[in-house]
Amino acid sequence: MAKELSNGVSKPPPTPSPLRNSKFFQSNMRILVTGGAGFIGSHLVDKLMENEKNEVIVADNFFTGSKDNLRKWIGHPRFELIRHDVTEPLLVEVDQIYHLACPASPIFYKYNPVKTIKTNVIGTLNMLGLAKRVGARILLTSTSEVYGDPLEHPQKEEYWGNVNPIGVRSCYDEGKRVAETLMFDYHRQHGIEIRIARIFNTYGPRMNIDDGRVVSNFIAQALRGEPLTVQAPGTQTRSFCYVSDMVDGLIRLMEGDNTGPINLGNPGEFTMMELAEAVKELIDPNVPVKNVENTPDDPRQRKPDITKAKELLGWEPKITLRQGLPLMEEDFRQRLGVPKKA
Ligand code: NAD
Ligand code: UDP
Repeated sequence: MAKELSNGVSKPPPTPSPLRNSKFFQSNMRILVTGGAGFIGSHLVDKLMENEKNEVIVADNFFTGSKDNLRKWIGHPRFELIRHDVTEPLLVEVDQIYHLACPASPIFYKYNPVKTIKTNVIGTLNMLGLAKRVGARILLTSTSEVYGDPLEHPQKEEYWGNVNPIGVRSCYDEGKRVAETLMFDYHRQHGIEIRIARIFNTYGPRMNIDDGRVVSNFIAQALRGEPLTVQAPGTQTRSFCYVSDMVDGLIRLMEGDNTGPINLGNPGEFTMMELAEAVKELIDPNVPVKNVENTPDDPRQRKPDITKAKELLGWEPKITLRQGLPLMEEDFRQRLGVPKKA
């Protein structure tokens, strides 16, 4: 039996790939971003590419992401884009893996639930296998959905959650919970360096216009002059984090010494009615609000306790919802072709 190290870990980390020591070795950090063509992934790639010491490889199957999100990097000598599904093994030599591949919007993750759970379970296994082979550090973007419909408020990382294992959201919620389990098992059993972020609702430019998430829905509806669809009861709450804050938190987590899980989100908490009012005020006060039916297992409240992120990463969000919404409005106006009235 291997000697037990700290944190229940029984093995030291694997040595990096021998290719790193070959004559072709470069001092650049080679970083894989799975799901890098998606909303958060593409903003993360932008930030990583700002550092000239980074080489970035994106692996994405383009289910919800698009090449358009990465167009400014295509052809860049430090950037590679691979059409790849993470449910299949991937052979690349990298130093870090940001593992984001997985649809985040309920419409898309419920569209093919079996595929969603395969992406979370087999996809994460494949990326952990890769991390083990090449000795890379791996960060998983988990989710506040692991807390389910939380009975504790705000949610701390120690809370184990209240998740329906057989509901229509389970492919995503339980998928991410298993992904977290796999991360810790590989860490304890094989010494893999892991990082887990539990991301709360994130919004910003490049969100899919019709992906059904609440901020993108309300902004698109207000710009099209359509009623804002508030799902019943409208008193359910969420906390919305602007994407640049999220990317900053992910990079700090990857670069720091803590495995996590660590909550990353903006603790400002809003009911869906309050969000609808804020969007109306910003874009069109005359647009009506329409109450519509909700979907099953919708969490009633959500607000991160970010004490850990503050203490361990020195991170907290800088952009309030009132500052972030206009930035998203601008992007949606351009993409929908609805200029601001003079
Ligand atoms: P997104 O849907 O915009 O991006 C996901 C990306 O993964 C897309 O580019 C998609 O094509 C790709 N993908 C999906 N399945 C794949 C597969 N099998 N193989 C390869 N690529 C695949 O979503 P996002 O909002 O950018 O979310 C990114 C990550 O953050 C996800 O892991 C999500 O679970 C997590 N997260 C997001 C939020 C949020 O509010 N946006 C909240 C919690 C967690
Ligand atoms: N929601 C809403 N109107 C919409 C879309 C969503 O009122 O057009 C509500 C939904 O019921 C949920 C909240 O907004 O309570 C957040 O939903 P979203 O799908 O954005 O994120 P998640 O449920 O994953 O937090």
